[in-house]
Amino acid sequence: MNDDECWTRVKGRLRSNVGEDVYSSWFARMDLESVSEGAAHMSVPTRFLKSWIQSHYADRVLSCWQAEMPTLQRVDLTVRTPMRPAALTKDNNKVPVEELRIDRNNISRTLNGGRGNSTGTTADADALGPSPLDPRLTFESFVVGRSNTLAHAAAKQVAEGRRGDPVMFNPLYIHAGVGLGKTHLLQAVTFSGNASGQRKVLYLTAEKFMYGFVQALKSQTALAFKETLRGIDVLVIDDLQFLQGKSTQAEFCHTLNALIDSGRQVVIAADRPPSDLESLDDRVRSRLAGGLVVEMGSLGEELRLEILKSRVAAVRVHHHGFDVPHAVLEYLAKSITHNGRDLEGAINRLLAHNTLSGQPITLEMAEREVRDLIRPQEPKRVKIEDIQRVVARQYNVSRSDLLSSRRTANVVRPRQVAMYLSKTLTLRSLPEIGRRFGGRDHTTVLHAVRKIEALVGKDPVLADEVELLKRQLQE
Ligand code: ADP
Ligand code: MG
Repeated sequence: MNDDECWTRVKGRLRSNVGEDVYSSWFARMDLESVSEGAAHMSVPTRFLKSWIQSHYADRVLSCWQAEMPTLQRVDLTVRTPMRPAALTKDNNKVPVEELRIDRNNISRTLNGGRGNSTGTTADADALGPSPLDPRLTFESFVVGRSNTLAHAAAKQVAEGRRGDPVMFNPLYIHAGVGLGKTHLLQAVTFSGNASGQRKVLYLTAEKFMYGFVQALKSQTALAFKETLRGIDVLVIDDLQFLQGKSTQAEFCHTLNALIDSGRQVVIAADRPPSDLESLDDRVRSRLAGGLVVEMGSLGEELRLEILKSRVAAVRVHHHGFDVPHAVLEYLAKSITHNGRDLEGAINRLLAHNTLSGQPITLEMAEREVRDLIRPQEPKRVKIEDIQRVVARQYNVSRSDLLSSRRTANVVRPRQVAMYLSKTLTLRSLPEIGRRFGGRDHTTVLHAVRKIEALVGKDPVLADEVELLKRQLQE
């Protein structure tokens, strides 16, 4: 087993060891750099992640490694430089390396829009400080559509409040799946709230909240941390589902109560409603549910198109020549159904390609560049039993007739059709299909498949029958 395979297995162990949520919040961005001299060298993108993993999960990471590689003595964790071009190179492996090197820094800065920089350095050093904001995530760039009207209106209302105004709903709790705009909306609230100069708005991810608290406890500044939190008008917490640990949760609960009871605003986002935050205790859950809980639905096609247009417009501020034909935008809006991140990713790909190759953006190019962002509809899995059942019904024979050794014409044809469908609609091998049809030899199956293929080409009635059967099975 080579190091990479080993690493894959280690990650698998870690994931089952700590659970999916913890894994995705702390380990998803951990990469293996090398293995040498009894040590595994890994890297993470931020100092924050590094110290969190070291203080909470060092032993587990090591033991997962040792389970795969018993000779390993220790694990090293470093912070990788934020501008590592790995991701870009991977996505654009058709672009010559030389060209990439020339423009790389330029591009990745554009693509990150400052996001990469800020998360990587400044704010991590300061445990009590806010989480970094992405300057692009404002109300101006937030597109309102059917699925987010209410959440947007509520967020806007919160952002426009003044110190001393009665609080209308507290907390405001927004939940939605990944990439549907929660962070965007929360950062918009923070940015515009602070810009008005009326109130102090603090944006924290749940990670940051935990980290601030743990740091504060360690350095005996817990009081200062609490004061920081209590000295603000609006507390915004993102990704609450990641809040872990009894003492942090207790602290969160106190903070929440203190803020709400003194009439200050709390805004929260999570990927699920309060009732589904299993790890939180009942009182916190009911407090969370006691304000306004709004869900944002998935982005409809119209909304996706508008988001794409607004992204293109934002990019054009710096890249005047970035021209995306309307047909391409429509194609992207139609085919990328999943979430806002993929929409953004698609625009970034087009920009990278356009900038690196200098070629104009066409539909063909877009199709090629974003192919992997388009999740194909999972085809329905057809079972051999279903095929036998449906075919038997259609031809008015019994399923056991199909499996029997009878060779009368009224059974032979349906049996061949059923075998043919089994071969074309499932991934089963010929021998496997033979076994499932009363223990027949694979050559019999092959014969049936060829026979029906040939007949379908000549006999339109049979072709129709087969087509109809396929449709019934795939619906
Ligand atoms: P979440 O926090 O819900 O996972 P984000 O807020 O990070 O999602 O959104 C993912 C991407 O989609 C971001 O680039 C964001 O700007 C974009 N996006 C999502 N919804 C909207 C919207 N309504 N208007 C404009 N951009 C949006
Ligand atoms: Mg988010």
